[in-house]
Amino acid sequence: RLYNEVQELKGNIRVFCRIRPFLSNEKGKATTVDHLTDNGELVIVNPSKHGKNNNRMFKFNKVFGPEASQEKVYLDSQPLIRSVLDGFNVCIFAYGQTGAGKTYTMSGPNSPSKENMGVNYRALYDLFDLSQSRRSTFAYEIEVQIVEIYNEQVRDLLSNNTQKRLDVRNISQANGIAVPDASLYHVKSPTDVIDLMQIAHTNRAMSATALNERSSRSHSVVTVHVRGTDLKSRTSLNGHLHLVDLAGSERVDRSEVIGDRLREAQHINKSLSALGDVIFALAQKSSHVPFRNSKLTQLLQTSLGGHAKTLMFVQINPDVESYSETSSTLKFAERVS
Ligand code: ADP
Ligand code: MG
Repeated sequence: RLYNEVQELKGNIRVFCRIRPFLSNEKGKATTVDHLTDNGELVIVNPSKHGKNNNRMFKFNKVFGPEASQEKVYLDSQPLIRSVLDGFNVCIFAYGQTGAGKTYTMSGPNSPSKENMGVNYRALYDLFDLSQSRRSTFAYEIEVQIVEIYNEQVRDLLSNNTQKRLDVRNISQANGIAVPDASLYHVKSPTDVIDLMQIAHTNRAMSATALNERSSRSHSVVTVHVRGTDLKSRTSLNGHLHLVDLAGSERVDRSEVIGDRLREAQHINKSLSALGDVIFALAQKSSHVPFRNSKLTQLLQTSLGGHAKTLMFVQINPDVESYSETSSTLKFAERVS
């Protein structure tokens, strides 16, 4: 109850922090995490400072420690996802430096088992199951698009031609589709969902080999369009769900990169700050929300602000060597929460 009231005040923006575990090849590394609490507090330690003032506390709606399972993380996002079937627009994204677990949270490892599937799969399964359970009163249609934004260009990850650049439409109407030229697939079963995710994954990986780990420098956006028709009254409702695996937020040293790499870094910087500015403006209930400053915020416009619900996963690599990136990630999150 209280939690909901607090959310109202914050303009429907929730922030969950997730700390990934050390991997098997990282055994013995020191952690930057001092402690975390059940009510969303996280204290991190600065390894280069000694004494009393070497730690700092951050407060989020929730903090998940390294042992948190994919299922547990999903359970706390589930109410938001289910509200899409009631006609709400929802945006869930993962923010953090490369290697901090964004893709793991959103999708899981490559070809995930049922147990380690990420939010994307679970959300679609759930929407599908729930729409089935309501079929005596509602007829639902669920359609999926998956695109990538790289250097401020939008590409279709479900098409044979991933090189084609797509336009983002400025949509004012509630049921508008922001990228009308991206492939739109009707999902009728959980296997349809797995197929689409795999196609997108393969297409993303293909461009990655060509351009060297491009996936960490592009945003991937899964958009789920849900249309429900009340069988009795024949009225219909529309909900959109955006699931976003953002480009790595790490700062690139401008004196060290040139050419393509510099251009990529500038585009990422620009779009992540545009996202931060939009969420900040929404959290402040500001009358002007600067959606037009990046392709990412234009594309997400329907699911940010208004009656939309937003959830940000702030992903943390526990390694003390990542302290300065961790600290700037947490500060970004603090500003918008
Ligand atoms: P990012 O997408 O932010 O670059 P990844 O999701 O690829 O990071 O995570 C980096 C590595 O850590 C991957 O090998 C991934 O499988 C692993 N990993 C991330 N989070 C977890 C987790 N919660 N449990 C187990 N392994 C994880
Ligand atoms: Mg990733």
